[in-house]
Amino acid sequence: MLDIKITKTTHPKQKPADETKLGFGKKFSDHMFVMNYTEGKGWFDPRIVPYGSFEMDPATVVFHYAQELFEGMKAYRTADGHVQLFRPDCNAHRFMDGCDRMGIPPIPAEDFEQAVKALVKVDEDWVPHSDGASLYIRPFVFATDVGLGVHSSKNYTFCIIAAPSGAYYAEGLNPVKIYVEDDYIRAAPGLTGAVKCGGNYAASIKAGELAAKKGYAQVLWLDGVEKKYVEEVGSMNIMFKIDGKIYTAACVGTVLPGVTRRSIIELCKDWGYEVIEGKLAIADIMQAGRDGKLEEVFGTGTAAVVSPVKELTWKGESVEISGGKIGPLTQKLYDTLTGIQWGKLPDTKNWIVKVD
Ligand SMILES: *Cc1c(COP(=O)(O)O)cnc(C)c1O
Repeated sequence: MLDIKITKTTHPKQKPADETKLGFGKKFSDHMFVMNYTEGKGWFDPRIVPYGSFEMDPATVVFHYAQELFEGMKAYRTADGHVQLFRPDCNAHRFMDGCDRMGIPPIPAEDFEQAVKALVKVDEDWVPHSDGASLYIRPFVFATDVGLGVHSSKNYTFCIIAAPSGAYYAEGLNPVKIYVEDDYIRAAPGLTGAVKCGGNYAASIKAGELAAKKGYAQVLWLDGVEKKYVEEVGSMNIMFKIDGKIYTAACVGTVLPGVTRRSIIELCKDWGYEVIEGKLAIADIMQAGRDGKLEEVFGTGTAAVVSPVKELTWKGESVEISGGKIGPLTQKLYDTLTGIQWGKLPDTKNWIVKVD
């Protein structure tokens, strides 16, 4: 158990009046959680303080060598006004795994969860009330040694900030076009694809920009060795419904193990679908598309929950999916998961953790 010291702000910010204009990750709540680490001493001084800047030496190692890690999760307000989290233990354990890969001293999962809950509790009034809106929570840790030598840092800061964010789909689920990236790669065996580190994103920004210029919403990444097998999209995992079965890449080191992915696999299995986690060649997906067997394609992630795909383009050829419409399974998954998250459906899977 952390002994969290709470210092409340004396200058509370004005809360956004119009929740339809929140956007994503632009406004932040009144407080943040901070905790420090020094070798020999361990994690110390867990505290909730007014949201504010860090002062950092320009030679702080994270600026140069990117030893850092983050998480993304949400707090949801139910119709009767309670605030709840969705599977925070999954984020906490994934963060521990990520720390291990990045050479960062782990934060025990129960401390991580306690810190998230404590911040949400203090900033409870920042959890939006409108349908589909939520408080996005961003825990992150970074190396704070000062000096330009490349080494595992002896000092770290762990921080959690929270951003009231608008409904991802203000006008209903919106199917998108996806560009299958055949040039750049996101991950390769032995690298950091399975953990949520900023470096993965830094390496993917250029491909995303090029695809956006061509009119695509996201990039679909292929495996980094043969560029033959599908892995994931942008900041989401991806699933394909082909001839009644559901396929998704296995989480074997190059794919981020999404909490949404995992939850959707469980739901699909409960509903009697066969779910295959393994290698799925892009050539076979395109062929299924041509044969009319590619029934549904959707991305999965905390921000969007599911993101229906209406078209895939690979090496200049495009296939259309479900006639450009949202497939019935995609819609059912969206309704079920958001129903559980916002407390409209019973939490039959024990996924909900109440904050108040
Ligand atoms: C966060 C993330 C996901 C989705 O994970 P969720 O836990 O479902 O939000 C998928 N891919 C990448 C690269 C990510 O960073």
